[in-house]
Amino acid sequence: MIIVMKKGAPQAAVEEVKEGLVKRGFAIHESIGATQTILGVIGDTSVLDPEEFLVNPEIENAMRVQQPFKRANRMFHPEDSIIDVSGVKVGGKGFAVIAGPCSVESQPQMDTIAASVKKSGAVMLRGGAFKPRTSPYSFQGLGDRGLDMIEKAGRANGLPIVTEIMSADKLDLFVDKVDLIQVGARNMQNFTLLKELGKIDKPILLKRGMSATIEEWLMSAEYIMSEGNENVILCERGIRTFETYTRNTLDLSAICAVKRLSHLPVIVDPSHATGKSWMVSAMARAALAAGADGLIIETHNDPKHALCDGAQSLTLDEFAALMDDLRKIAPVVDRTL
Ligand code: PEP
Ligand code: MN
Repeated sequence: MIIVMKKGAPQAAVEEVKEGLVKRGFAIHESIGATQTILGVIGDTSVLDPEEFLVNPEIENAMRVQQPFKRANRMFHPEDSIIDVSGVKVGGKGFAVIAGPCSVESQPQMDTIAASVKKSGAVMLRGGAFKPRTSPYSFQGLGDRGLDMIEKAGRANGLPIVTEIMSADKLDLFVDKVDLIQVGARNMQNFTLLKELGKIDKPILLKRGMSATIEEWLMSAEYIMSEGNENVILCERGIRTFETYTRNTLDLSAICAVKRLSHLPVIVDPSHATGKSWMVSAMARAALAAGADGLIIETHNDPKHALCDGAQSLTLDEFAALMDDLRKIAPVVDRTL
C-alpha cells in the first residue's frame, strides 16, 4: 500500500503515520518528493483498509499496490531514480554510453580500447573477467588478472568500470575494484547472489534474464533493494523467442514498460540482443529514441580476433560513428550526452 501525504504536511504528521505502521509490524519506504511525501508500506497489507487512513486530514490518498514489487515500483517513488556510478549519473536527462570488449584479453587491448572509447564519448568501460560461457571449453576469462587490467585501463582514462560478478565469493574483491557490478542474464534469478548484492552500496547493473518476464526482472531488482541497496540499473539485452536469425530478440517495448512500472533507470545492450555487429548501431539509435537511459556496447580494437563475441562487436571507428549519430538524435528526444 502507498500513503500519499498532503502537499506541505508537517513532518510530525508524517512521523505519526509511520510510527503507527511500524508498531503494527510494517516496514516503511519513505520517498520525499519536491512537494509531497509518499510512504510505501511493506508487509502483509491485506489487513489494512485504505479507508482508515483517509480520515487523517494530513493524508491525501491511500491505495493498494497491485504489483508484487514494491521498492522498485514507481508508485513508491514517482520521480526517476538517478544512480551515481563513481560520479557518472545514470537516469534523468543524461544518456550514458558504456563501451568495451566482451572480455578482458590483455592490458594493451584494454588500454587501447579505453583510450579510444573515452575519446569518442563513452562514460564507462566494460569488459568481462569472469565469463559465463555456454561451453566449459570456451575461454572463461582472465579472472582476477583480468579485473586488474580493466581497473588499470579504467583509472588511466578516467572511466568507471563495469564487469560481471558470477558468485558471491568474489564480492569483497568487486567492492574494492569495480564501480558498477554487473549481474548477467544467466544469474538474474540467482537469489542468493542478489541478496548479497543487496547488502552492499555499490550500484548494480541487473541484466534481464533471457527468458524472464518484465515482472520477474523487476522482482530480481526487488531482491537487491529489499536488502537495502537501492542503486539498481536495469539492462534490456534481448530475450529468447522463436526467431533464430538474431542471437536474441531486442524487446524495445520493455523500456516503455519498465519506465511506467518502475523508477529505476534502464539501459540497452544491443550487442547481445542482436549478435550481429551490423545491427548494433541501428538498435542503439532506436533505444535512445525509445527512452532508454543509456547503452552498453561491445567494442573491440580487433573484432575478427576477439576471444569472445567478435561477431557482435563494433570496431573503434564504428563506435565513434555511432556516438556521432547519438549526439544528433539526443536533443530531439530531450536527452544530453
Ligand atoms: C555480457 O555482458 O558480457 C554478457 C555475458 O551478457 P548477458 O549476461 O546479457 O548474456
Ligand atoms: Mn559478450
